[in-house]
Amino acid sequence: MNISSLYIHIPFCLRKCQYCDFVSYPVADCGGFREQYPQLLLQELELYREQAELSLLHTIYFGGGTPSLLQPHEIELLLSALPQAEQPEITLEANPETLDEAKLAAFASAGINRLSLGIQSFQPQLLAAMGRGHSPQQAQDMVSAARRAGLSNINIDLIYGLPGQNLEQWQADLAAALALETEHTSLYSLTLEPGTPWWQQQQQGTLQPADDDLGAEMLELAIDRLAAAGYQHYEISNFARPGYASRHNLAYWRRENYLGLGVAAAGCLLNYRYYNQRSLEDYRRLLESGQRPLFDEEHLNIDQVMSEAIFLGLRLQEGIDFAAFAEQYGISPLKRFRRQIRKMEAAGLLEADETGMRLSRRGVLLGNQVFMQFV
Ligand code: SF4
Repeated sequence: MNISSLYIHIPFCLRKCQYCDFVSYPVADCGGFREQYPQLLLQELELYREQAELSLLHTIYFGGGTPSLLQPHEIELLLSALPQAEQPEITLEANPETLDEAKLAAFASAGINRLSLGIQSFQPQLLAAMGRGHSPQQAQDMVSAARRAGLSNINIDLIYGLPGQNLEQWQADLAAALALETEHTSLYSLTLEPGTPWWQQQQQGTLQPADDDLGAEMLELAIDRLAAAGYQHYEISNFARPGYASRHNLAYWRRENYLGLGVAAAGCLLNYRYYNQRSLEDYRRLLESGQRPLFDEEHLNIDQVMSEAIFLGLRLQEGIDFAAFAEQYGISPLKRFRRQIRKMEAAGLLEADETGMRLSRRGVLLGNQVFMQFV
């Protein structure tokens, strides 16, 4: 089996943001677990080395959480244990307040060649409301510092649809993001996830979520501004300068195999999917008894695999190539999903021809309505 992408989850943050439902724990509460974590990851990797044929990795992604809370020598240790192809893409997610120029240079010499910075907003009051730990200036300084440290592939994350955020603020955020001239920009629409502090405030009526129409207007504005600046809108939430699409995330959307290591990581190998334990203690306990730290696993049937391939592939501007799909799954989407395709075409959300299909511009704004049809 060809497994050429690896995700490593780093479940530590300095503090929890108000909207966050990712699996991450305040690092000050993690005791010795934080220091032990790289060794646990190596132990987990060994279990896969015994069971699966790990190919030379083309992409490695340290996600979180806040992976930049690891020390560069720990990243180096992990990378030295991983079989890598020529010129792999190795991404580190980072938060500005955990970085400085020396640390960025050390990450680069440890092997990191793509930095993904969680900036989220350039508005001080919105950053404070979200519970973020950096200022707009710190974020801008860290992009410049990353350049000086030799990192030439930088992504920044921004969030829109925040409570209280207006169009002028979003325009200012886009202008500030463009001024940084990064290779890649990811834009996330805020969703209030159950259990988060903001969700609780919404339930209590003390937080007013953003209006859906305003959110759509923000995304449309961003699409136009980023396109005018030379970015390709290659995936619903992602924009890249030519040649800088995230190779790791493309593997997810093209439904290629990937392994996940770490607390709450997930992996997908053909029709097999697994999810790791979310608690630090359970993760450690299982590994220390020589078992995979699984929370759950599932075997998808062919219908589920095809549905997944469709709604993941439709996230991409390239869309679904009918011939390639038929070669892989033995049936053309035009036969298997004819009714859904015609319905979404009629609604103006999908564009199909004899070779393939992709979301229309309106479909990009209303992607979930399309994806639901194929589930
Ligand atoms: S930094 Fe990221 S992962 Fe950590 S709490 Fe904030 S949003 Fe969640």
